[in-house]
Amino acid sequence: MTTPNSRNQTLRSAIVVSIALVLIFLVVLLVWQDSLTLEGEARIMGISIHITATGTNRDKINEAINVAFDRMRQIDQRMSDYREDSEISKIKRAAGKAPVAVSHETFAMIQKAIEYSKQTDGAFDMTVRPLVALWRDRTEEGKSPAQIPPNNAPPSEQEILATLRLVGYDKIVLDPAGQTVWLPERGMSIDLGAIAKGYAVDEAIRVLRAHGVENSLVNAGGDLYAAGINEDGKPWTVLLRDPYEKDRSKIRVWKDLKLHLTDKAVTTSGNYERYILIGGQRFNHILDPRTGRPVKALDSVTVVAGSCLEADVLSTVITVVGVQSGLELLKQFEGASFYAIPEFQSPGFDRHLEEP
Ligand code: AMP
Ligand code: MG
Repeated sequence: MTTPNSRNQTLRSAIVVSIALVLIFLVVLLVWQDSLTLEGEARIMGISIHITATGTNRDKINEAINVAFDRMRQIDQRMSDYREDSEISKIKRAAGKAPVAVSHETFAMIQKAIEYSKQTDGAFDMTVRPLVALWRDRTEEGKSPAQIPPNNAPPSEQEILATLRLVGYDKIVLDPAGQTVWLPERGMSIDLGAIAKGYAVDEAIRVLRAHGVENSLVNAGGDLYAAGINEDGKPWTVLLRDPYEKDRSKIRVWKDLKLHLTDKAVTTSGNYERYILIGGQRFNHILDPRTGRPVKALDSVTVVAGSCLEADVLSTVITVVGVQSGLELLKQFEGASFYAIPEFQSPGFDRHLEEP
């Protein structure tokens, strides 16, 4: 027989169970909403850019990804040296003729690149392009036998010296009042290829955050930034592949590496994908602006740093200056570390390799 007391107890238990069920449902809903991860892809700067972003609102994440891509397109329109209509191309066409007024952003970028040149004693130099062109002209790659230049050999010392006269960041004339850039010699040019991609990635992250997306990964062909955490609540995992996996003629000195990153950027400068082939010989696409020759010592440098701009500059510069000077340089960039091939690891790099 049920008494009023036991009926009350049954009712209370039922209420407790119902509340518990509702709570469990809410938690599941919350977790399920948190784990919403969206991906976007766009072709910008001549490469495929991937954005992964997590959050709870599908429309808001999609909107943030689209605005981030638009921002990267804007930077490309201003700073690309492949686009005829970019500000950088205008500066090149006006070399030796007249100063060119540019956007505040391009002006600031050139100022920043000059600072990096000073900081690295000229190892980083955006005016290196005429030298890159001199070496690239000699390549047989992409040419039919009839098109291969008769001088299909590395440039002579004389040619290098003549071209070096067009190189030097200290030749650039900036007018902050008019926001103008002037290259005083005909044939000079500016190449932001070693820095603009990193900057564009940082800007994409800034836009995503401004739209409330705190957790995201922006990958511009290996120049990437990992913001916050992934959908499992852990640091983002980035796999660096053994670059020689496909090239069996090389001795394997590398291995696949797994990095765990939160609010960190990583970039790689390597000569295994981009290089200049002359007479069957591979030359690095990064040149030492002081000698006018492609760098030789390091095949690849991977840098982890606080911003993608810094990582981009550092990976190029360390390729030029080598491991020892690279270690010295790191002291000026807090929290940065690098991994180089042939195998070398700076202090602090293993921190990103550990399982979190
Ligand atoms: P990255 O792949 O970021 O290291 O950039 C390489 C690109 O930067 C090359 O394709 C060149 O256009 C340019 N570059 C080559 N050598 C230098 C240098 N010493 N300083 C600045 N830019 C360079
Ligand atoms: Mg770079």
